[in-house]
Amino acid sequence: MSNCAIVGINWGDEGKGRMVDLLTENYDIVVRFQGGGNAGHTVVNEKGKFALHLLPSGIFRDGVVNVLGNGVALDPENLWTEIQDVMSKGVAVTPDNLMISDRASLLLPWHRDLDGLEEARLADKKFGSTKQGIAPFYSDKYQKKTILAGELFYPEHLRAHLADLMEWKNLILTRVYGAEPYTMEMLDKWLSEFCEKIKPFVRDTGHWLREAQAAGKNILFEAQLGSLRDLDFGIHPYTTSSNTTAAFAPVGSGLPSAAIGSVIGVVKAYSTCVGEGPFVCEMFGDEAEELRKAGFEYGAKTGRPRRVGPIDIVATRYGVEVQAATEIALTKLDVLSYMDRIPVCTHYELDGSLTDRFPFPAALDGAKPVIEYFDGWKCDISGARTWEDLPEAARRYVDYIEKAIGCPITYISVGPERDSIIVRR
Ligand code: GDP
Repeated sequence: MSNCAIVGINWGDEGKGRMVDLLTENYDIVVRFQGGGNAGHTVVNEKGKFALHLLPSGIFRDGVVNVLGNGVALDPENLWTEIQDVMSKGVAVTPDNLMISDRASLLLPWHRDLDGLEEARLADKKFGSTKQGIAPFYSDKYQKKTILAGELFYPEHLRAHLADLMEWKNLILTRVYGAEPYTMEMLDKWLSEFCEKIKPFVRDTGHWLREAQAAGKNILFEAQLGSLRDLDFGIHPYTTSSNTTAAFAPVGSGLPSAAIGSVIGVVKAYSTCVGEGPFVCEMFGDEAEELRKAGFEYGAKTGRPRRVGPIDIVATRYGVEVQAATEIALTKLDVLSYMDRIPVCTHYELDGSLTDRFPFPAALDGAKPVIEYFDGWKCDISGARTWEDLPEAARRYVDYIEKAIGCPITYISVGPERDSIIVRR
């Protein structure tokens, strides 16, 4: 079996967590390679219902080793809270099943403050940040103004490095935003309350992964968010601040030589989008509210109602291309069962003509959705376990999407539970 990446094709929240939870059965290692605690995977399995933010979704499988790679935004406070939450529900989290890269950069306490301060400054021009400090974190990472997790093992060096960073950051906090400065006392408290707790999980995971690869272990790479939020390929500037695409997995995981045999792109049977930015296929009014309720589309981290719309073929095909997806998991097909007819955004109208090519971000505001309708199936499909179990109208819908986006749909998910899945290979 080859290595595999599970990635989002759209705006995130496609159901990646449930796919990782399902497929970890076949893998020895799950690695998160980008992003932080700003989004959430919801996983439902025999151990309960969990909202994961930073922990890899393989944490529920006995024998699977979960790695937080160098590409993640490692927030010690959020991570420790999440570990305690998962452990309180009976899931073991130990240095044997969770490893943190010593080269992962730490999200520092002021990153969250700066995120909130900047969103407040932007007022009605805000980006819809979850205020978890992700954008300030990644800017500082690329300025080399963060701390690596491995520095926790060098206490004297660590305090001196933190003091230098604090001096610089206090200038920005106080002079640019008029906020309160940090003190070393505050940072010492943060070190002892959170960093000391996660320290036992920190190690040279790059070396460990290279050895695991040489021993023939199977690795699953888990992404956060989706293609359209990728820093380089997404709807800039309404993207996240990291690369959500599979091509980044080898770098962000700490295993640059990793070959990824299969890229499973997760696509939801309709569209959702959290936060600001262009969302061409957006539905409004009662139609939107009905879909939002049927799919329970409220953010896992923030509880914010998600914007909803029909599946967007233009955006999805683009997402498949930038992820170089080799197969697709189509999720939440069951949610559409209430509809008399199923809307599909097949093209965009742009500057008076039809296009099936995803436009440059600045042109998206001028694009209008072109909607076609498919017959609904109007029956409960959550018990379907084979392709033949699905009503003909549902099969027609899936077949159409497969052809339109140019990638085989090998999984169809019809419920949040681990076994609510149709495998079609
Ligand atoms: P992720 O971040 O991509 O993992 O996605 P989220 O966890 O934010 O959103 C997926 C949500 O849909 C979760 O609440 C899942 O439990 C749920 N879910 C996943 N697959 C299905 C499905 O096929 N049907 C239904 N009804 N819910 C699903």
